[in-house]
Amino acid sequence: MCDGFEVTDKRVGVVGRGANAFNEAVFLRSYTPEVKLFSPGEHDLEPHQQARSRELGIHFQNGPLEFEVEQEAILVRAGTAVHRFDSLYPALGSDVRSELASCVGATLSDEGCIHVDDHQRTNIPGLYAAGDVVIGLDQISHAMGQAGIAATTIRIDLCERSPLVR
Ligand SMILES: Cc1cc2nc3c(=O)[nH]c(=O)nc-3n(C[C@H](O)[C@H](O)[C@H](O)COP(=O)(O)OP(=O)(O)OC[C@H]3O[C@@H](n4cnc5c(N)ncnc54)[C@H](O)[C@@H]3O)c2cc1C
Repeated sequence: MCDGFEVTDKRVGVVGRGANAFNEAVFLRSYTPEVKLFSPGEHDLEPHQQARSRELGIHFQNGPLEFEVEQEAILVRAGTAVHRFDSLYPALGSDVRSELASCVGATLSDEGCIHVDDHQRTNIPGLYAAGDVVIGLDQISHAMGQAGIAATTIRIDLCERSPLVR
């Protein structure tokens, strides 16, 4: 994910494999012409992804990789080459930690994300969910918006059960 200002026209590296990393690199290419894609091991890019990377000027490089942080740059060593970046993006996938919700019977997507309605209610009365654990855009602003909706819904639902009065 990226909010733009720290990558626009900067040197950007992406570390990861497969479609995840490829899609992240292509996304970041819309912010800067200098995008390099590193695999921790051998790249597993499909031929059409390799062709698209070349077309977009996204250099891709196999690992093993070593990393070093300097005052003004992040260094990636791949073989004998040293690459310097302003930003380095891990695109290594993520684990959805929805086990607790699943334990109480919340319905999940195939990826393990919690299903919610338009007001962040799960299928379990009294259980609400917001953020990356819910299906949808994984960004801070989205998580915060969902959290606001969830908080308001919780209050409304509680008031319906028993009016909250001061
Ligand atoms: C490399 C990277 C770059 C990103 N860049 C951006 C960006 O530039 N802009 C942007 O908007 N978004 C960005 N994102 C996405 C953003 O970080 C997430 O959308 C946001 O953090 C989601 O917030 P959240 O509270 O849902 O989840 P999280 O921030 O992941 O918080 C969940 C918390 O719950 C804890 N937890 C998990 N399971 C349990 C458990 N069983 N018990 C107790 N605690 C538990 C975790 O340790 C974690 O602290 C980026 C994400 C990554 C990985």
